[in-house]
Amino acid sequence: MPEIKSTFPAQFAFSQSSLQDYADCPRRFQLRYLDQLIYPAAESEPALENERHLLEGQHFHRLAQQHLLGVPIEKLARLANTPNLGRWWENFINAKDLTGLRDLSGLYPEVTLSAPLGDFRLVAKYDLIAVTEDEKIVIYDWKTYRKRPRNEWLSARWQTRVYRSLLAAAGSQLNGGRPIVPERCEMVYWFSNFPDDPARFPYNEVQYKRDWDALVRLTEEIQSASSYPLTDDRQKCAYCPYRSYCDRGIQAGNLDAMEAEAEAESLFDVNFEQIGEIEF
Ligand code: SF4
Repeated sequence: MPEIKSTFPAQFAFSQSSLQDYADCPRRFQLRYLDQLIYPAAESEPALENERHLLEGQHFHRLAQQHLLGVPIEKLARLANTPNLGRWWENFINAKDLTGLRDLSGLYPEVTLSAPLGDFRLVAKYDLIAVTEDEKIVIYDWKTYRKRPRNEWLSARWQTRVYRSLLAAAGSQLNGGRPIVPERCEMVYWFSNFPDDPARFPYNEVQYKRDWDALVRLTEEIQSASSYPLTDDRQKCAYCPYRSYCDRGIQAGNLDAMEAEAEAESLFDVNFEQIGEIEF
């Protein structure tokens, strides 16, 4: 039977997660965003433990957001009611790198930015954007990873490139209507399990131009693709939920046994496609 070409859904927008999926495996991008197939298999074993970790990650994000919106600490502390949540919450409240955040006047938790990109838009929902007193604009992203990824790996992720470049391109409303100078931007990954070891990524004009050019090229490639091939890197299939569609194995990979541990940890990323659905 001839393959039916996938089309882009009417509401489609590029995001860091869809671009990362395409970079990891074009077929995964097709199945997830064009064909809109729900995840049909546990991504990794042990499934229940990973599912709980994912839910706890989502709740932690909501606790952090409520805290930054001014909800009293004592009220939120009661909701950090699992061992992981309790530890993450304590780490969050006491983190020296986050001290004084709540007192800033320019504080934008869970803010969404978007800009046109090709025939579509590029959209990102940020855990927090903070404008500091010395007019730096800092993106914070909370990670509940069980292992601390290397900075080199984080630096190459599309999230790091999309979040900073989109802030520079479309964040002027957070800066009193003034254009944002890339040199004033920084992205900070704060790890709830490693509170004293955040990853910091400053930015500059050269990086911004390079990132935006790369985004234009990549999205043109995605839009004009005549097919979305399976990745040659079978390691990416070990924990991919679409294994059964691709005949790449039924049994999920075991996170602890995986060499690509940082990629495995990214399975627990909370992104805006999920967080709107959390009841809290
Ligand atoms: S199972 Fe492998 S080939 Fe199939 S979508 Fe996932 S990563 Fe791609």
